[in-house]
Amino acid sequence: MEHVKAAIRTIPDYPKPGIMFRDVTTLLGDARAFRQAVDAMIAPHAGAKIDKVAGIEARGFILGGAIAHQLSIGFVPIRKKGKLPFATIGQSYELEYGTDEVEMHTDAVSAGERVLLVDDLIATGGTAEAAIKLLRRAGASVEGASFVVDLPELGGADRIRAMDVPVATLVAFEGH
Ligand code: AMP
Repeated sequence: MEHVKAAIRTIPDYPKPGIMFRDVTTLLGDARAFRQAVDAMIAPHAGAKIDKVAGIEARGFILGGAIAHQLSIGFVPIRKKGKLPFATIGQSYELEYGTDEVEMHTDAVSAGERVLLVDDLIATGGTAEAAIKLLRRAGASVEGASFVVDLPELGGADRIRAMDVPVATLVAFEGH
């Protein structure tokens, strides 16, 4: 995964001082790194009989869309509150300051469907945890979660594993 890691750009102090922003747009723009990342996000879940990919806004749409296409299965967008046009269910989650909410269409998954959750990066795991709760409330079974980047110091991947969801991450960075 050295090529994948090298293709990710780091922007210090974005969007605020102290944050090292791991920018995957450079990875997405690199054909070899993009393909390698997509393949490696699928591989750990081989044999899991996945019915749908759920991607978290916004970079999870790009990676999740590519993964859904590769697996020839459907894609479900999990969006920030207020963006989806049809009837939705929502799940709020804690931020450092305040709360946020993710939403999904009520008919996006059917009961018993097996879903793979996808995003570019897992930090505290708050967003992914809310997405898993949402999918489970809709009756889906979350078979796994895949992320390009893990920030292990923030504990997100372990938090998701504690929900009985197998987690795959491709590269790790120190710090926040
Ligand atoms: P969390 O809910 O704390 O796991 O945050 C994960 C979400 O925030 C993902 O959608 C990431 O894209 C974004 N995010 C959090 N920290 C960073 C970071 N250091 N660089 C880039 N994106 C980040």
